[in-house]
Amino acid sequence: MRVLLPLGLDLAYDYRPPPEIALQPGDVVEVPLGTKRRVGVVWDGESGAPPADPDKLRTVHEKLPLPPLPATTRRFIDWVARYTMAPLGSVLRMGIATPALFQPSRPAIAYALTGAEPERMTGARQRVMDLLRDGPPRSLSDIAEAAAVSDGVIRGLAEQGVLEAIESDPDAGFLEPPPDPETPGPVLSQAQADAAAQLKAHIDGGYATLVLEGVTGSGKTEVYFEAIAEALRSDPEAQVLVLLPEIALTQAVLDRFEARFGARPMSWHSDLTGRARRAAWLGAASGAARVVVGARSALFLPFRSLALVVVDEEHDPAYKQEEQVIYHARDMAVVRASLMKCPIVLVSATPSLETMVNCWTGKYHRVHLPVRHGGATLPEITAIDMRREDTQRGRWISPRLEADLRANVEAGEQSLLFLNRRGYAPAAICKACGTRVMRDNCSAPLVVHRFGNRLQCHHCDFSMPMPKVCAKCGAEGMIVAYGPGVERLAEEVEAMFPEARVAIMASDTVRTAREAQAFIDRIEKHQLDIVIGTQLVTKGHHFPMLTLVGIVDADLGLSGGDLRAGERTYQQLWQVAGRAGRAERPGRVLVQTYMPEHPVMQALISGDGPGFYRNEAAEREAAGWPPYGRLAALILSGPNEADVVAHARALASRAPRGADFTVLGPAPAPYVRLRGRFRHRFLVRARRNIDIQGLIRAWLGQVPEKSSVRVAVDIDPYSFL
Ligand code: ADP
Repeated sequence: MRVLLPLGLDLAYDYRPPPEIALQPGDVVEVPLGTKRRVGVVWDGESGAPPADPDKLRTVHEKLPLPPLPATTRRFIDWVARYTMAPLGSVLRMGIATPALFQPSRPAIAYALTGAEPERMTGARQRVMDLLRDGPPRSLSDIAEAAAVSDGVIRGLAEQGVLEAIESDPDAGFLEPPPDPETPGPVLSQAQADAAAQLKAHIDGGYATLVLEGVTGSGKTEVYFEAIAEALRSDPEAQVLVLLPEIALTQAVLDRFEARFGARPMSWHSDLTGRARRAAWLGAASGAARVVVGARSALFLPFRSLALVVVDEEHDPAYKQEEQVIYHARDMAVVRASLMKCPIVLVSATPSLETMVNCWTGKYHRVHLPVRHGGATLPEITAIDMRREDTQRGRWISPRLEADLRANVEAGEQSLLFLNRRGYAPAAICKACGTRVMRDNCSAPLVVHRFGNRLQCHHCDFSMPMPKVCAKCGAEGMIVAYGPGVERLAEEVEAMFPEARVAIMASDTVRTAREAQAFIDRIEKHQLDIVIGTQLVTKGHHFPMLTLVGIVDADLGLSGGDLRAGERTYQQLWQVAGRAGRAERPGRVLVQTYMPEHPVMQALISGDGPGFYRNEAAEREAAGWPPYGRLAALILSGPNEADVVAHARALASRAPRGADFTVLGPAPAPYVRLRGRFRHRFLVRARRNIDIQGLIRAWLGQVPEKSSVRVAVDIDPYSFL
């Protein structure tokens, strides 16, 4: 019998089944490995070590009291491992996502009303009683938080016999009542109803990929909610998975879902406690979690019967996981749906070119929402040619943008300034010798943070105070912040508008789903006049009072020669522009650029998205870039550069040759030294019909591995650093 362990191994090992228990594929078991006990899953896939000598087989210790990993999840794990070329065990690790899974939670004490009345009613007591009258029994800490009372109030009520303590199933505490698809939703416009009908027609009809493309504010969420309702109605066991690219979006979608379906879905993201993860995993496996809203790794939950998958903001680069198992969650979601034989809806105002091309060829079905809901108009987009603006040195807001901001602040309306750069400044340089402050032995840039006080790496957790003396020339007091980040922009804005309420939204100021929601609430309640944000604010949100968007440096994403630079910049700027004027008040967008004639800027100003996509596609096709050709990267890394280079040479000497593909490299990676490792890269470019994984597998198979050099394969790379 084979057992797959969640370790970086490609093989399932042979074990002897325990005599007294019948084991099935998918069962979660504990087995001996070396001197340790490890958790693994009984595996029936294609991968296995050669059968071990029966006399030497060790015996499975025990079966854990967990539901088995379903066959559909096991086949998905096999598929992802084969496609991404990651070790099967590493992919399994995502499928049994949390150590808490194996630690059954202790029974918890929950409090319920007995029906008795307290001796004397107080405001606090009343709140506790109202809370419990309307809902299930809750734990002490839960009641204290939800009713805003001290623990003593609850204990006091228990002593008086008003509350009784009961033992509850700790995992059940996370389960909400099931969402009710019959809760009435908003009245859809004709266009929305037509789009919803097209999605609904596919429920129960097997696998299909649908693309819900609609301008920002067209009501895509409301439309896919209708498809979710239909899926839930179709079968009492049906489950739905909704993927979101960013934790900051989660809370808003959970709230909207609750408003629409009368109950919260199960959520899944990196911020959850171990117990919440265990509950979500068990809920997915039992089917009790009817709807899961989560980050990309939710794909690996052991769903019992998925009836629909939704990938919101499908174009978002955050769907690509760049660590460990390198995979694209949108693409793997399509595979997940096809293995579960259910439809999948990819949702976006600016679909990825990959998705567009699949619509053009008829592989995916496009469903289109061309107008904003409720008569809101799309914002007017104007370029500010920075070459002609007399912007002061050391400032990033042009006189023209300043004038519009001022008018907006004076009119009591809200503005958003978008700059996709965290921190205070992207670099610190020595004014005496021009050298950029870098860390010894690392090529990742150090970014100035905390209003000029610290230097921080965005690739690891290194940080240091701003140095006073230049390490290169020894000059003192000459090190300065160079270029703008959101913190510096905030400084500029505060000096310009001392009376305005200004705040920054970036991933280091807003870290959790809760913090993000608190920030978004402040925008929605109009407690802020000017919001300064990175890409975090570009996504999904609906701010009715926001009428002006200023894009501070529209050219930022276009440098660097990434093949998707144009596409990404277009998507990002169009998304951020889409935050403006979503309700009754029309919106304006000002785009600061040094290249107003660039096709991306032209597409934004003219609103000719389709033309932009066609041109972009034609260029990619001519060059054989994705999605017309295939790419894979090999990243070699290790602590010793000579070893890395030698291994790269050995691989280069065996590089496959053929008419249908080219191997480029080896070349030092742009970040040649990162987190203490030297990095060199190959890029394989092939025609679409080539089995690129087979090619790479055969190639790697010819060169003996070197223990000091790690070779990571990135199929369909999105990052070239
Ligand atoms: P999108 O995801 O396309 O940007 P949303 O689904 O967020 O758009 O909708 C934009 C806003 O319009 C939201 O506040 C939403 O609740 C509202 N809305 C959309 N459609 C309707 C409708 N049919 N009735 C009432 N409100 C709607």
